[in-house]
Amino acid sequence: MSTLDSKGTIFNIQHYSIHDGPGIRTSVFLKGCPLSCLWCQNPESNSVRPQLMYNRDTCTGCLGCIGTCPQNAIRQDFDKVITDRALCTGCGECSAVCPSKSRTIMGKTMTSDDVYQEVSKDALFYRNSGGGVTITGGEVLFQPLFARDILRRCMENNIHTAIETCGYADWRAFSEILPYVDLVIYDIKHMDSTMHRKGTGVGNERILENLARISSEMSIPIIARTPIIPGYNDTEDNARLMAAFLRDNVRTCQEVNLLPYHNLGVGKKSQLEEEPSFISHAPGSGEMENLRTIIRSYGIEVI
Ligand code: SF4
Ligand code: SF4
Repeated sequence: MSTLDSKGTIFNIQHYSIHDGPGIRTSVFLKGCPLSCLWCQNPESNSVRPQLMYNRDTCTGCLGCIGTCPQNAIRQDFDKVITDRALCTGCGECSAVCPSKSRTIMGKTMTSDDVYQEVSKDALFYRNSGGGVTITGGEVLFQPLFARDILRRCMENNIHTAIETCGYADWRAFSEILPYVDLVIYDIKHMDSTMHRKGTGVGNERILENLARISSEMSIPIIARTPIIPGYNDTEDNARLMAAFLRDNVRTCQEVNLLPYHNLGVGKKSQLEEEPSFISHAPGSGEMENLRTIIRSYGIEVI
């Protein structure tokens, strides 16, 4: 492994993705995130370590997993199989013996070269469709050197590069990777910092400041992306504040993507044996259209 070939933890590489930037893309999902959004769709990405997922519905109760655990973290409790999450290291010994695949490990260590070799298999699709590689997560800036080395290899080989980020990072982490990024997909959860903290655990000042700097100092094209969470950020005021901020501070913003909330994260939380912290409903199409009309009135394209 050279100094340009760092190691990191990923939880998925998704080929033929069409929602994370232009053309046909490969999306690389890194583990680890500094935010804890109540509505998180990918809770298996929150920790940077590999994590055990357990599907109670498919477990046959064969008890084959109990004796395999080096931490003695698994026990039987009447008709249930219980895992002590505080002891579990995510080693994967139990998942290797589970006949019903009810136990899986989310996350594995790869080198940036491993990742590059995998994503470069689709180079022909990228060329023909105007696509490329998107690094997302989790949060890409949680593992900035790993992300940088993947992005650099892609850029050196003429593969279009994008990152999706929540923006909550030190500017030094951004400056490591931005020279190798063609497009930034930037999440904006809420324009009010108190509400932002309530929903994600952190305020939004640093996030908005970084967003403006990426545009003004690096001139990189930006797609702003907002999950529309009913009862949280679906107000007309929030849409107006966001549109005005983008118009006045982010001149390289190409478009806004509005993503209606869905509750896929709830099932994943159950497999992580965590309580769902928040369940909402999907916003109606009329509500989405109204927000789109408001943002468009500021001269910004909305998808
Ligand atoms: S992943 Fe490893 S430590 Fe965790 S329960 Fe399974 S065997 Fe035990
Ligand atoms: S090995 Fe799999 S199916 Fe058997 S008890 Fe353990 S989790 Fe359930």
